[in-house]
Amino acid sequence: MKIISRRNFNSLTAKGLGGAALLSSAPFACAMGANQDKKKLGIALVGLGSYSTYQLAPALQDTQYCYLAGIVTGTPEKEKIWADKYGIPEKNIYNYQNFDDIANNEDIDVVYVVLPNSMHAEFSIRAAKAGKHVICEKPMGISVEECTAIIEACNEAGVKLGMGYRLHSEPYTQQVKEYVKEKTFGDILFVSADAAYRSTGNPDQWRLNKEMSGGGALMNMGVYAVQSTIYGTGENPISVAAQEFSTRPDYFKDTDETITAQFKFPSGAVGNITTSHNFNANAMYASGTSGWFRLQPANNYGPLSGETSNGDTIKFPHESQQKLQMDDFARHVLFDEPNKAPGEMGKRDMMIVEAIYRSIANGGETIALDFEPGYGFGG
Ligand code: NAD
Repeated sequence: MKIISRRNFNSLTAKGLGGAALLSSAPFACAMGANQDKKKLGIALVGLGSYSTYQLAPALQDTQYCYLAGIVTGTPEKEKIWADKYGIPEKNIYNYQNFDDIANNEDIDVVYVVLPNSMHAEFSIRAAKAGKHVICEKPMGISVEECTAIIEACNEAGVKLGMGYRLHSEPYTQQVKEYVKEKTFGDILFVSADAAYRSTGNPDQWRLNKEMSGGGALMNMGVYAVQSTIYGTGENPISVAAQEFSTRPDYFKDTDETITAQFKFPSGAVGNITTSHNFNANAMYASGTSGWFRLQPANNYGPLSGETSNGDTIKFPHESQQKLQMDDFARHVLFDEPNKAPGEMGKRDMMIVEAIYRSIANGGETIALDFEPGYGFGG
């Protein structure tokens, strides 16, 4: 059994994946462009819920190219708590009403939108209009139309846009992409992906309210499974057919509980996803003409884990995915390095999500998808 070692990891990172640690002593001057005088980008988190509190803010204490400079919250009690905890000056604290004043704040370079899904478009567009680079959480919005509006607003304002797709910055997902690109296991013929958890909490939470979430399991966890089939084959799908299952209609009154969907890819590969708010599942598996690989778990905060038909264990040192992701985006802004999760990736996923819902509404009809090759792929 071969374990992928620190040495392999370094060679992967040197190729551009999450290489922040490797660059720690590199001089900043090399390729700085417009942000030449910036040592670290100031990030403002919009929405101080669970993800900001327990993942993003702690990760921002370890990032190398960005730091927590400001907050935007609709809950006045959180202002002092966050200011005290993270040393945030009062002038960098905003609420949803005065948020647009952030345009005049030179401490803030990037606005990171971490609100319920239905608020992503409004705050991403307001941030772009304020001249700030934008990171938008997944799903990008609650419709393709919203995704297009965010992309257009960022283009018009001349600011960069990244998605909060943390997996594109972590090494296991990079390893999968490398297997596919190098055809380590031949041509991929089949890929399956599961992304699900059991929801039993407050039935009034926004995730179960379609107006705020845009949908249920598919909008929440489903995008990870869709993504796994895409980087697991290296292709965007050409069609999808989908089914919905409901066993707890009293709890899931408004949003989808469990969805399965089958994809076809241009090469002839086929794929299957399962996503649910009713059970736990977290895996991806790909089978090629000369072997297979799997990750399980494949999409949680890590450490992830994997193995291959060669008997290899896929193993990398664990680092915060959020730290790697935000540093990758900062390097994109500062040094013009590739955008690992561009806005088009979020829009592509929403086009697939809408096709899945359309298929279900039409009794499982196969819906054709027509993407330019590589549309939405990150760098
Ligand atoms: P959360 O419910 O914990 O936090 C939501 C925040 O939005 C809270 O601070 C709440 O006060 C605020 N808010 C403002 N207006 C609101 C309203 N009308 N109703 C409800 N809340 C309102 O949610 P979260 O888990 O932090 O998720 C926020 C976003 O981040 C979602 O889009 C989610 O999909 C995304 N997310 C991404 C990941 C990831 O791994 N990339 C993980 C978790 C969440």
